Amino acid sequence: MFKKVFFLKNILSTLSNYKRGKIHLSNPPLLAWVEINNICNLKCIMCPITFSTSRKKVIMSLAQLKQIVDQIKGFILEVYLFVGGEPLLHSDIISIIECCKTNGVEPVIHTNGVKLSDEISKALINFRVRNIFFSFDGYTKETYENIRVGANFENTIENINQLTAIKKEKKTTKPHIVIETLMDRVNIRPFTIEKEKKFKELFIDNNNISFTRKYISNFATEMPANEIYTFPKTVRGFTFTPCPNLWSSLNILSNGNVVPCCIDFNGENILGNINNESISKIWNGPKIKELRLKHFNGDIGDIPLCSKCGSVHRKNFHGIPFEFPGIGSFVRNTFNYDVYRAIWNRTVNL
Ligand code: SF4
Repeated sequence: MFKKVFFLKNILSTLSNYKRGKIHLSNPPLLAWVEINNICNLKCIMCPITFSTSRKKVIMSLAQLKQIVDQIKGFILEVYLFVGGEPLLHSDIISIIECCKTNGVEPVIHTNGVKLSDEISKALINFRVRNIFFSFDGYTKETYENIRVGANFENTIENINQLTAIKKEKKTTKPHIVIETLMDRVNIRPFTIEKEKKFKELFIDNNNISFTRKYISNFATEMPANEIYTFPKTVRGFTFTPCPNLWSSLNILSNGNVVPCCIDFNGENILGNINNESISKIWNGPKIKELRLKHFNGDIGDIPLCSKCGSVHRKNFHGIPFEFPGIGSFVRNTFNYDVYRAIWNRTVNL
């Protein structure tokens, strides 16, 4: 409870600093994204990891993860255990979850679900992880396997159903299961309400699962120009607002480099490295301050990623984006995922 009050105070001071264009921040970051590995077992047709060739494959050690958690545990509510890569491939994933939970930091796991074993399912339940997010693109076997190359439709559903079965056996509602489907054109074309309904029926206890549809990012046009990535930077038609990530979150890549966001999956804007500096030093270091200043002045033409990114054209209220990172975490952790989603659908979703 105390931590949530602290977090709420931190959100308010973050919003105030953002709105006033503060460059040196009194607030610590609200969220952290920690890439525990940048390897994956699939070759999904829309994923940066499939196309990225410039980064070495690195698996973060448990010791390094512990050092990070030690530095952020006082102020971070949720830590996303990925930037690129499939978190369940990490051989220490159970210890990583345990480390986060015992330090009061909620781990957020987005997974393709292919490697979800009974052992991992039991750990998620035992450590009372709040939510688990499955990226499940495609309502039919054909669409799914064309998008998530290397996965098997029936096996992934079986893994998710097995998690539900263990939850029922243990009489628990946690972790809440969320199945996310991206709305790229590959999915939109074959999408019908009827197909979605049939898809939901494949999951046991599906009334207690949240099914969501989200628009796909074109990763600041870094991704190949093809039929999947159809959303140019101003597609949403909103005026420019500075990127809220620079005031609210830090992304730590598996090699220790810190970047401003998950769009920077190749590490173009390196703000520092946690092997050489503390997180708090990087948070108010010269590189991120320069980015904040440029964003606040609307002068981002010479930042290759940001100048092409949709994140600076978000739906906003008096200059504050509705999707401001951290607010959703607070709602999810104070209420539950469905409350968060209902608010999202009313405010952010187009
Ligand atoms: S504008 Fe886009 S690329 Fe730049 S920091 Fe924000 S999310 Fe990342």
